[in-house]
Amino acid sequence: MSDFLTKEPSLEEYWRGIILFGRNVASYKFALAKTLLELKPESGQLLKLSDIAPIFASNIVQHLKHSPKQTTSLSSKFLKTCQAFSENEIDHQTLIESTVRLGFNNVIDAFHIVGSGEINRKFYIDERSANDGIRITDEFSMLLGNKQSSNLIFEAEARWRLVETAWELNISRNLIAINNDSSTNELFTLDKSKKRKAVTSSRHALNGYQKGKCFYCDTDISIQENLNADVDHFFPHKLKFVPEIGDLVDGIWNLVLSCIDCNRGFNGKFDKLPSLNLLVKLSNRNEYLIKSHHPLRETLISQTGTLHEDRSSFLNKIYQKSLSVTFHTWEPKLN
Ligand SMILES: [Zn+2]
Repeated sequence: MSDFLTKEPSLEEYWRGIILFGRNVASYKFALAKTLLELKPESGQLLKLSDIAPIFASNIVQHLKHSPKQTTSLSSKFLKTCQAFSENEIDHQTLIESTVRLGFNNVIDAFHIVGSGEINRKFYIDERSANDGIRITDEFSMLLGNKQSSNLIFEAEARWRLVETAWELNISRNLIAINNDSSTNELFTLDKSKKRKAVTSSRHALNGYQKGKCFYCDTDISIQENLNADVDHFFPHKLKFVPEIGDLVDGIWNLVLSCIDCNRGFNGKFDKLPSLNLLVKLSNRNEYLIKSHHPLRETLISQTGTLHEDRSSFLNKIYQKSLSVTFHTWEPKLN
């Protein structure tokens, strides 16, 4: 994620680094992220494990209902307890006690670790040994106060859905492909028997990798109720009729979120081909998807190439072909 962070990274960049780029072995990080965003604690507030446990456990229980695999390890005592609660074998009080005892062992320490080390900013301080909980930092309340904060819960949920879908399918990673349904803008995949499985909203899955901005003009996007975000084909959909391009245009590699003005406003893009410097931006965005690990990584690699060079030449080839058909290019009018 090193190149995802700018020179002076914003708090959202750090947060998205945690959620979008970790090499996950369990879903606890997503559950904790969602729990914090739901609880909205204030700076300096002590959250006891017993305060966090009910929402944390409820998030896991909800996900277990559709995705029984929530970790790559073979067994987890905590997950078994959540499962037992789902099946009415234990009561809520037992679930909460068990969550306090077992649920946070591998997540509170690991939350701020991305790649090989901890990130520089912390959203809480671990005070489990002194106070049985975590202390919320200024960084977390500043994060909540930012324009982007309403998007973060959707992004965490979408990333969680993608990761658990990859675990659940348990098929060779090379065969996992995430597709977009262009009528609903929902991502789906096919299971072993080629049955379609819904995953998550394309908007929610893509937004974080664009840092919550319109791909073209960098206006803030709100994905809450899809307020101002269109899912746009960077290479316009009409290129589907060019034989060398065809169905490739529907791949996730070609989908970006655009503000409504850029996509279809006055001087909007509509079905024009974006300029060459926007192609560079697409290439960077796609590299972020690759670095997010499964399942978008496998999807992007199968669509655009294994090595960085392969992917660049893929994009350039499509670009040259498109230009030979469209002749003109488009850029947003920036004020
Ligand atoms: Zn825009």
